[in-house]
Amino acid sequence: MKQLTKTTGGCLCGAVRYAIRGEVHLVYNCHCVDCRRASAAPYVSWVFCKQEVFEILQGTPSEIEHAGRVRTFCSNCGTPLTFKNPQYPDDIDVTACSLDDPALFPPKGHLWVEDKVSWIELNDGLPQFERFTTN
Ligand SMILES: [Zn+2]
Ligand SMILES: [Zn+2]
Repeated sequence: MKQLTKTTGGCLCGAVRYAIRGEVHLVYNCHCVDCRRASAAPYVSWVFCKQEVFEILQGTPSEIEHAGRVRTFCSNCGTPLTFKNPQYPDDIDVTACSLDDPALFPPKGHLWVEDKVSWIELNDGLPQFERFTTN
């Protein structure tokens, strides 16, 4: 999926604001243990895009490195904002639900379903992947 966009988002308290200006490549729900714990939610919807189309407009997110990957969040209110794997420095993942309008980017599937919480029932008809996929 490639979708042209110019959209904005930010954290709960408003300290951090960002823009995505360009193509969004993929949108997936991630059920992995790390996303779950980092968000304290059963799964996280991610917008995958290139670093060059993502821009912080206001504020300075805090970073936490875990398992060699870097997540950012608002240091004031804690909203999870981005994910980066240093193995793919040109890419950044943005939490879809920190967007001002998450409805713009409906997810295309579920990743890391092998880690899914048992009481989450997936019946949206979207493809499910045991782990990661870029299809
Ligand atoms: Zn905040
Ligand atoms: Zn994950």
